[in-house]
Amino acid sequence: MTAGIFQPNGGWIEVIAGVMFSGKSEELIRRVRRALIGRKTVQVFKSHLDDRYGGVYTVGSHDGRAIEATPVDSSEQITRRLDPLAQVIAIDEAQFLDNGIVAVVNELAAHGRRVIVAGTDTDFRGEPFGAMPFLMCAAELVDKLHAICVLCGAPATRNQRLIDGKPATYDSPVVMVGAADSYEARCRSCHKIAPPNEAQGKLL
Ligand code: ADP
Ligand code: ZN
Repeated sequence: MTAGIFQPNGGWIEVIAGVMFSGKSEELIRRVRRALIGRKTVQVFKSHLDDRYGGVYTVGSHDGRAIEATPVDSSEQITRRLDPLAQVIAIDEAQFLDNGIVAVVNELAAHGRRVIVAGTDTDFRGEPFGAMPFLMCAAELVDKLHAICVLCGAPATRNQRLIDGKPATYDSPVVMVGAADSYEARCRSCHKIAPPNEAQGKLL
């Protein structure tokens, strides 16, 4: 591997953080494509929990090379399924992975790998999501992307969870698998959380 900009052996961590709809996956795919154009060996992982792409998540390059993401639901699976030849490792939806992901990416960077991690940095309450704050600390480079607030058009920095069209209560679980919740990108002032046990409609 050629020498990197941060360490003689070339390893480093990049984090692409931000709310849902802020373009994290687009940016991750862009970086993966460019790495493929640069003839790097790339491996992409993504969390099982995210099935927006119908379970198959393919990243293609203009010269016809394509790469499929390996689905994982734990940091340990990344270690187990790692391609020993991969020079660039991209991980999407990292907020759903356990805290072991921090040691895994540090280890990869220490061994000369470029690691690109994308994830939602805050949960529906606006609080740190999973290992994302630790990954942002571990990274040499952090980009925080914004979406557009669907209510006022300002830059959106919060994930608004809605249940039956109304703001979710503070005590609802961070991950609601198979639930009828939906999300909107909102700015700080348009973001609403209903207090526990209070009629949700009051705060809308
Ligand atoms: P992320 O991975 O951050 O959830 P994606 O890369 O999957 O984001 O999607 C980003 C795309 O979502 C944008 O290019 C845009 O087309 C679309 N989009 C939908 N709603 C919004 C919004 N409120 N703000 C910005 N982009 C949005
Ligand atoms: Zn707003």
